[in-house]
Amino acid sequence: MEYLDQLNPEQRKAVEHTDGPVMIIAGAGSGKTRVLTYRIAHLIYAKGVDPFQILSLTFTNKAAFEMKQRIENLVGLEARNTWMGTFHSTFAKILRVESDRLGYPSNFTIYDTQDSKSLIKSVVKEMKLDDKIYKPATVLSRISGAKNRLIGWQKYQNDPYLKADDEAAMRPRMGEIYERYQKRMFKAGAMDFDDLLFNTNVLFRDHLDVLNKYQQRFRYIMVDEFQDTNLSQYLITKKLAAAHQNICVVGDDAQSIYAFRGADIQNILNFEKDYPDLFVVKLEQNYRSTKMIVDAANSIIDKNKAQLKKNVWTSNMDGEPIELIKTTSDNEEGRIVATTIFEERNNKKLNNSDFAILYRTNSQSRAIEEALRKLNLSYKIVGGLSFYQRKEIKDLMAYLRFTVNPMDEEAFKRIINYPKRGIGDTSVERILVAAYEHDIELWEVVKNAMSFLKGRAANSVADFATMIKAFQIETERKDAYEAAESIAKQSGLLRELYSDKTIEGLNRYENVQELLNAIKEYVDNEENEDKSLGAFLQEIALLTDNDQDKDTSDAITVMTIHSSKGLEFKQVFVVGMEEDLFPSQMMMQSREDLEEERRLFYVATTRAKEKLYLSYAVTRYRFGRLLNCEPSRFLEEVDPRCIKVNKKASSRDMPGAFRKEGLPGSEGRSGFVGIKRKPQSRMPTQKKIHTPSPDFKPSNTNNLQAEQLVEHPKFGFGKVRKIEV
Ligand code: ATP
Ligand code: MG
Repeated sequence: MEYLDQLNPEQRKAVEHTDGPVMIIAGAGSGKTRVLTYRIAHLIYAKGVDPFQILSLTFTNKAAFEMKQRIENLVGLEARNTWMGTFHSTFAKILRVESDRLGYPSNFTIYDTQDSKSLIKSVVKEMKLDDKIYKPATVLSRISGAKNRLIGWQKYQNDPYLKADDEAAMRPRMGEIYERYQKRMFKAGAMDFDDLLFNTNVLFRDHLDVLNKYQQRFRYIMVDEFQDTNLSQYLITKKLAAAHQNICVVGDDAQSIYAFRGADIQNILNFEKDYPDLFVVKLEQNYRSTKMIVDAANSIIDKNKAQLKKNVWTSNMDGEPIELIKTTSDNEEGRIVATTIFEERNNKKLNNSDFAILYRTNSQSRAIEEALRKLNLSYKIVGGLSFYQRKEIKDLMAYLRFTVNPMDEEAFKRIINYPKRGIGDTSVERILVAAYEHDIELWEVVKNAMSFLKGRAANSVADFATMIKAFQIETERKDAYEAAESIAKQSGLLRELYSDKTIEGLNRYENVQELLNAIKEYVDNEENEDKSLGAFLQEIALLTDNDQDKDTSDAITVMTIHSSKGLEFKQVFVVGMEEDLFPSQMMMQSREDLEEERRLFYVATTRAKEKLYLSYAVTRYRFGRLLNCEPSRFLEEVDPRCIKVNKKASSRDMPGAFRKEGLPGSEGRSGFVGIKRKPQSRMPTQKKIHTPSPDFKPSNTNNLQAEQLVEHPKFGFGKVRKIEV
């Protein structure tokens, strides 16, 4: 069979060994996912297995979709009938069918995190507990952790260790909250995300006929990214596979990056115990990346103590060394990355989709996005909204907009009751109607709330108007940054975000800080004469309205490292390689945490097929301040033989101190000499943030002079060599 020839002998063994338990634990890019894909094709094509009897569990729905397409290419349309998806989506489907067994309606609601937190909040309130101690996010993560280990509320309440834990944390009534939370959700016909897995376990445990039905249906089960499954997921698979034992799991312990969500590497070790006649396949040849990249990745993961030793190698070309890019600021980092992509794309005839930019946290996307827009490069943000589309950013922007222009109706609707100030939809409606009916400005109605509204709402709107007036006065006196920072605080927006301690909450808070950073950079930039809030808003409006290529089919991928798992690109940029950013400040408490960060770095580097870039900035705006950054410790862990220091990283923008000293590693390939050197100057590179210099508009080119530094909307930064008329 032709397709089997597209596999190496080890891969082929894994594909042809269709019956009985199989485990493939292998390094990145060694063809694990390819083996799963071919295995499914082989089951259908060669073994005549009914596609309906094959279940594959992938990490994202997108991965499932892509896999299905490949199988379709191999065996045709039949492939569509296989069961394929994430754990959550697959078992939500099954729960819908079997819901009556658990007493749920078949159209049960799935609560998202916001819904869950809001329910917890009301439970805590009902119990007359303090929600500063029983914070919804904290309670939810405690409940979630329990569910992922299959601890229901009854078990939770009877567990002396959990009880001791909660008492030590001054939250003795956690078990009770858990109980009420579950009962309330049940009454509302709702499940949260963790329930989807938890309840599937309950379903299979308590209803053997149902379990039996699905055991018969799924004769073949496959799990990709097995290293990131939690106990709840593992037990579901194990139960389903119990009848036929045709289970094949693939994964890489070196890429386990979701421990914070309850993923457990232990599952890999348990698997060997649970299936004594396990057929284990090792894949060591990497097909994805150049030798440089494979060697670099090996040298990184080598530093981890907790790992199964593997010897990943490749017969691919040596390829280009990894490029280390030092930049003076986050903005310059964005700019150099964007220019490099622009040049590489042209020189090597690549598509946008051959490039990915990866970062540790979503808030880093702002500087990157701005730089890409300036060069008119299409990009898509995966697993996150584009920076200025994010709710928290829109919320703050709405405050700023409404302060500057209190006729802005959309901004008004966004902020009038956020953070909550007891102004209901009816009151908002009444205000808008009044403005229309009396043909007066919205702001006039708001200022004179007492004439249009009654009771509490009237008072609240009046207070809101007073607050906005105060903002307006501040805005007149202060520069954009001072005004915006004050508005973020006084409006209660920052406080609201700060009180949410979940990872997403923290991200939102950081994003708002990042917007403030952008405003600060704008103000600090000498090229911007008008430093008012209004001028800044106009810049941003132009930026977002910038002609962006709407067709994202050929776009640069921009995303967190976490969401890049399993993917591959010709060229990959890992940006923000700085201490406290990557490894993240929050992940340096223990060796385990640091090792998880290192695995994340391993995942990032192994996404690249042909070329990898690692960049860092020596200064970065964070929390509204310009901070000096140290290069990430991870940079020193990469085999220096695989690294080249990028010399073109613009020394022209560097403060004098740097220019004299030279870039670190400019001594040659030895690489890291001096990398830990503290920056000598705090001077950031100041650039106009958003729109290209007006100097470069065609009408204006006659002002140009030789040697002048210019910025072109498409071609980026450069110097005028000579002028020909
Ligand atoms: P990751 O750990 O990142 O998920 P993986 O082990 O799942 O990686 P794949 O994505 O399956 O690896 O394969 C990596 C790349 O190598 C893909 O482009 C795949 O098509 C290619 N590849 C794998 N095996 C072979 C082979 N035998 N011949 C040619 N190309 C191969
Ligand atoms: Mg894979």
